[in-house]
Amino acid sequence: MSDVLRFDDNCVFCKIIKGDIPSTKVYEDNLCYAFRDINPQAPTHILVVPKVHITSVAEVDRHNEALVGHMFTVIAKIARDEGLDEGGYRVISNCGPDACQSVPHLHFHILGGKKMREGMV
Ligand code: 5GP
Ligand code: ZN
Repeated sequence: MSDVLRFDDNCVFCKIIKGDIPSTKVYEDNLCYAFRDINPQAPTHILVVPKVHITSVAEVDRHNEALVGHMFTVIAKIARDEGLDEGGYRVISNCGPDACQSVPHLHFHILGGKKMREGMV
């Protein structure tokens, strides 16, 4: 569980996990943290982040794949708890500049509570 302590001092999401920047917590366990996006793009917009500084999906490998799988179990639980599972929801991870990733710490957006526009995905 030493991964839990591997933070990047300059990373906004590492600071949020440590509590150095305030956030509205939705869920937390020893491996991941979920909080409401500061600039919501849907009525429900939650970010799920690992408690280790992984830059993006591009850094997912056999060493952290169990962690990422766990994050999806958490995503499904949060969606149920937020009442999104009946209407549905979108899970997005932007990876790198072409995808307009703005925070280089792996995160999954959970977006729901409205009918999404078609397009992109
Ligand atoms: P990305 O563009 O990297 O896929 O998503 C980054 C997300 O982080 C954006 O939706 C942005 O609104 C959110 N965000 C950036 N800084 C903060 C912050 O300090 N607090 C919270 N709650 N969300 C943030
Ligand atoms: Zn980080």
